[in-house]
Amino acid sequence: MSEKTVRVRFAPSPTGPLHMGGVRTALYNYLFARKNGGTFIIRIEDTDQTRFVPGAQEYILDALNWCGITPDEGPGIGGEFGPYIQSERKELYRPYAEELVAKDLAYYAFDTPEELDAVRDQAKAMKMPNWQYNGVSRMNMKNSLTLPQDEVDQRIKQGDPYVIRMKMPRNKDVRFEDEIRGWVVVNTNNLDDKVLFKSDGMPTYHLANVVDDHLMQISHVIRGEEWLPSAPLHVLLYEAFDWNCPCFAHLPLLLRPDGNGKLSKRDGDRLGFPVFPTDWTTAEGELYSGYREKGYFPGAFINMLAFLGWNPGTSQEIFSLEELVQAFSLDRVGKAGAKFDAEKTKWFQQQYLRKTSDQELAKILSQKNIENCDLNKLEAIVSLMKERATFVEDILTEGAYLLQKPAEYDQKTTDKKWKNQASSLMEEWKKVLGGVQDFTPENIEAAFKNFLEQKELGIGAVLPLFRLLITGKGAGPSMFEIASFLGKQECIERMEEGVKVLGETHPVA
Ligand code: GLU
Repeated sequence: MSEKTVRVRFAPSPTGPLHMGGVRTALYNYLFARKNGGTFIIRIEDTDQTRFVPGAQEYILDALNWCGITPDEGPGIGGEFGPYIQSERKELYRPYAEELVAKDLAYYAFDTPEELDAVRDQAKAMKMPNWQYNGVSRMNMKNSLTLPQDEVDQRIKQGDPYVIRMKMPRNKDVRFEDEIRGWVVVNTNNLDDKVLFKSDGMPTYHLANVVDDHLMQISHVIRGEEWLPSAPLHVLLYEAFDWNCPCFAHLPLLLRPDGNGKLSKRDGDRLGFPVFPTDWTTAEGELYSGYREKGYFPGAFINMLAFLGWNPGTSQEIFSLEELVQAFSLDRVGKAGAKFDAEKTKWFQQQYLRKTSDQELAKILSQKNIENCDLNKLEAIVSLMKERATFVEDILTEGAYLLQKPAEYDQKTTDKKWKNQASSLMEEWKKVLGGVQDFTPENIEAAFKNFLEQKELGIGAVLPLFRLLITGKGAGPSMFEIASFLGKQECIERMEEGVKVLGETHPVA
């Protein structure tokens, strides 16, 4: 790795919500910057006005903020290399494109979209489907290399639309060393004369990206693999301007759970998991779900993302953001596509929930303003249900019986256990329970064990019935804890009610 000051950027285009692959790119940039004492920048690349989606920029910044991926420089934050939104830098790109024309490394092209379509159609008819504007074809087109100089001047003067194209050299090997992929070599005969500057007065992505990376003194370009094919052009642009090229690191693709193809924005809701960090509603009102609204903790989401393409080289899986910073390095990022695993994502969430203190979780739940439930009570509920929950919400749904009497009794358990002496057995146990003085879990347990001994019964003959009457369920946390939490009076009432209901619905012969 080079010794230079680390400055990295995440450069999303506001063409829609940020896919979780984009969040991972932002995360790796952030981790790399923090690890190396560098600077993490956000730059909005909005030069393609045709693809601009209202609200996307706000969405991206908000989503990253939720994830805790906070920039040192960027829109709304500032920094000495701003503005950080390319449309606000519009004026500065043209001179760079013109500099390349002056150096004979780029040229003006006046071909209209219709003319270009006609050439493509013609080529197709001649069984050459992949026509390109390049070193061979450019001499048959309408540009400053083929038109007389005075006509070029005249056209520009009278405001004819034009673009500026890169004059791609013929048969030159472009090489660069990618931090993840090693040496990449591409021959320019495979590259076309890319448009650098458009007729609407805006630079294309390629020009703006390279100019800004240079002006913002970016040391490492860490981005998704889909940009690898653009990298040779970028390397040539750095050469053309006589600028130092940043280091490149192209991150592996995120793949569908079955490994079959790239994880796309449609996959998520189709396969039952979000692919976006937060909810996104399209202009047409279509909702794409997000991790935040599904109840994931940002730390769990980030932890999961960090492992899609990187590993720490140890067996540790749970990392805080700070621990990720310490552990992260580009040389542990793999080349192979990373398969997304929805179950593993839930597992991360579950681990994070378990790590969160009862007090903290109770505080989150207290925002729901549950009737007759103060913070102490919520904390007790959390402590009982936490191990069985994945999301904070689950604590209340799984543990609904801690707040209200069961509305129904689990069918399977009832069918299996509510037989013969069930009713009289429960009547007896209820009496014993009523005699427990200090209603602590320990005392209830001691009374229960005593009862089993006296009746010469196994735990399986009594406990499931007790649970069924109190909670309506076939499984759950310690019944002694639950009973103590509910209190003697409530337990007695529930048992009476349960015996009555089950006696009617499940009469025993
Ligand atoms: N604007 C590009 C994008 O939307 C950035 C690519 C890059 O990082 O160079 O992903």
